[in-house]
Amino acid sequence: LVGADGTIHPTIFAEMSALAAATGAINLGQGFPDEDGPAVVLEAAREAIASGANQYPPGRGILELREAIAEHQRRFYGIALDPEREVLVTAGATEALAAAILALVDGPDDEIVVFEPYYDAYAALAGLAGARLVTVPLRWPDFQPDPGELAAAVTDRTRIILLNDPHNPTGTVFGDAVRAEIVRLAERHDAVIVTDEVYEHLVFDGPHTPIATVPGAAERTLSISSGGKTFSTTGWKIGWISGPADLVDAVLAVKQFLTYVNGSPFQPAIAAGLRLPDEVFADAAGTLRRKRDVLGAGLRAAGFDVATPAGSYFTVADAAALGARDAHAFCRALPGRTGVVAVPMTAFTTPERRAEYASLVRFAACKRFDVLEEAAARLAALS
Ligand code: PMP
Ligand code: GLN
Repeated sequence: LVGADGTIHPTIFAEMSALAAATGAINLGQGFPDEDGPAVVLEAAREAIASGANQYPPGRGILELREAIAEHQRRFYGIALDPEREVLVTAGATEALAAAILALVDGPDDEIVVFEPYYDAYAALAGLAGARLVTVPLRWPDFQPDPGELAAAVTDRTRIILLNDPHNPTGTVFGDAVRAEIVRLAERHDAVIVTDEVYEHLVFDGPHTPIATVPGAAERTLSISSGGKTFSTTGWKIGWISGPADLVDAVLAVKQFLTYVNGSPFQPAIAAGLRLPDEVFADAAGTLRRKRDVLGAGLRAAGFDVATPAGSYFTVADAAALGARDAHAFCRALPGRTGVVAVPMTAFTTPERRAEYASLVRFAACKRFDVLEEAAARLAALS
């Protein structure tokens, strides 16, 4: 069981959330909201439990949810999907990622190309699947890939190009040219594109553009999302994956032995959420944008350099001006110094490139305004 650095550790989120609990610090480390999402979504889950949706749902997920996912993809992006064959419900985006990687990778000669820093599960899953991780760096402060480095990373050994857009941990949103180049490279080297779009509705200068809408992409792309971020229900773990029927079948073949099925009362509730009016989705992005601005102003006032994110829960700040040389040590000390928890960017990098990210820290903006303002006041102690 090997991650990018040879071992599998407890996640940075477990470490830093335990620190938050032990010290009573404000947790801007782990990305989860501290307020409930739409009341109709919560009520739909209560109703589903009361009406007996408490046994195993079908292997692909309840049809009502698969239809709602297909309708959502058509409404927001013009993507046509057959809910019977091209959509699969999973235990969060995490299971969709795991099952897709395990399904597509055959052995140690297969490579997965990812952008670095990456959501930590990517390296762990590549390790579990026995594949080699090849990374393309995203550099401070705009975190867009260099086209030459991207092209050099993709070869005939590449089985998967794994994209995360909007991107955790950097908050970057990839440009049209990057998306087009990924599709061109995937076509040329016959790779599958796996795209993690869990922050699709948290884009600040929208709209979000799924890579599956780029010409030539649909037939080789598996798109992943989740209800967790969109409806502030991260604990429900209702995710999904969609794409060509043969690829979805391969993912299902693995998924059936990972969880088999999950979350029967939450499935109709997320279906209800996906059918909410456009304004609900726009309001969520607008609110998070204002939270991003409160957090960013607080970080700047405390002496950090800040890279303003275009989407996602996260803001990356450079603590070099505050004397940080080792972000992990800085984050371990931060609750004691300020009563705030954050996570080091080095948790999302390969050992080879760790030094490039050594003073960068990730903060989550998905907290109440009063919590962010209190965190900003506490961080002022640093300057
Ligand atoms: N991908 C990314 C980029 C994430 O940030 C997260 C979680 N926070 C996930 C996947 C996992 O999503 P889920 O909780 O739906 O498994
Ligand atoms: N995706 C969230 C984050 O990046 C939480 C992930 C987790 O707890 N595994 O903070």
